[in-house]
Amino acid sequence: MVQAVVGANWGDEGKGKITDMLAENADIIVRFQGGANAGHTIVNNYGKFALHTLPSGVFYDHTTSIIGNGVALNIPVLFKEIKSITDKNVPMPKILVSDRAQMVMPYHILFDQYEEERLAGKSFGSTKSGIAPFYSDKYAKIGFQVSELFDEVALREKIERVIVQKNILLEHLYHKPLIDADETFNTLMEYKKMVEPYVCDVSAFLWNAIKEGKNILLEGQLGSLKDPDHGIYPMVTSSSTLAAYGAIGAGIPPYEIKKIVTVVKAYSSAVGAGAFVSEIFGDEADELRRRGGDGGEFGATTGRPRRMGWFDCVATKYGCRIQGTTDVAFTVLDVLGYLDEIPVCVGYEIDGEVTTDFPTTTKLEKAKPVLKTLPGWKEDIRGIKEYDKLPENCRKYIEFIEEQIGFPITMVSNGPKREDIIIRNK
Ligand code: GDP
Repeated sequence: MVQAVVGANWGDEGKGKITDMLAENADIIVRFQGGANAGHTIVNNYGKFALHTLPSGVFYDHTTSIIGNGVALNIPVLFKEIKSITDKNVPMPKILVSDRAQMVMPYHILFDQYEEERLAGKSFGSTKSGIAPFYSDKYAKIGFQVSELFDEVALREKIERVIVQKNILLEHLYHKPLIDADETFNTLMEYKKMVEPYVCDVSAFLWNAIKEGKNILLEGQLGSLKDPDHGIYPMVTSSSTLAAYGAIGAGIPPYEIKKIVTVVKAYSSAVGAGAFVSEIFGDEADELRRRGGDGGEFGATTGRPRRMGWFDCVATKYGCRIQGTTDVAFTVLDVLGYLDEIPVCVGYEIDGEVTTDFPTTTKLEKAKPVLKTLPGWKEDIRGIKEYDKLPENCRKYIEFIEEQIGFPITMVSNGPKREDIIIRNK
């Protein structure tokens, strides 16, 4: 059975924790999109980890971790990450890398930095991991697949061809040092040495695994609202964040994805620029940021403080719908225990009209939140294992949101650890 774990919001919903938890019963975990630009934070019996490229199932010795063809593969980052976990006594994971995955080139990272510098105040808030230049090159058909490392003559010729265009930009647009073909080739040969033992025809591997009845998890990065098609374009990421893309980015039949677990956070947070209707500011935001997640809402990759907001029913209803949600995992609920009252955004007012349908970006910029205030529960809910044992107001908060978004909340996460989970049989 194949299931996907994806986000309904702007990312950082706690997908890492849910994947790590579900991975206990999985054989294979696949990353199918994105790159090292965002991270998952995972707390388990080995310690606390920030993963960027490795799937969140790497901590079990029964799982195989796969980097699918849809990923922006940064080879040195992948290997640094493997070392960072084995250094903390996690057994060496079984890893496979798709021969069709494309590689983040050293110049992709430079172009990302140079473009942000050029745009200065008008930048998109990129994490400067080379992701946008990487995907631009992939679709401009000048990217490099892992498989190309194994034909050195053709590779050398292609590097010469591709860098001509890059060097024109470096010289005339960015006024920066040019790329050297020999150096690029030598770097790729280093990458080849690192990755060679793991390279695999992933779609064939998964095809067989599905036939054998293996349990496969597809792990998404970021969330619906960062999807290039369905998100808040252009303040989005460069690869699709939707479960549907799991079929493409892993190379499996779309009809095999039977369960779509959409992770929804009990309040909102976002990184980067873009409209964020339920955003809060000042002390109110600082307090939620400080108490949020596990040790504060700061980017796992960048350390940037996240923008904070109340729960947004409009964005989440849409985010769940566009994912094709079968189950909602509702996370980080424990954090809200300090509030007397909890505002929730239940509608957007746009040009004097209230809607619960998430609009396109131009309209979104004009939206003002319609808030409803629910009573808080003023209790620490960590450690509670059964839904019925949650305080009444806490259950009411969950059930109100469930009704607003229209998808079943089947898991409630009340702490960062694997065991901090309440399964709700619906
Ligand atoms: P991801 O990218 O979706 O995996 O999300 P992040 O890892 O960036 O953010 C989730 C943060 O919340 C991490 O620090 C997790 O350890 C933490 N976390 C996940 N679930 C819970 C929860 O239920 N309660 C609390 N307090 N923290 C959680």
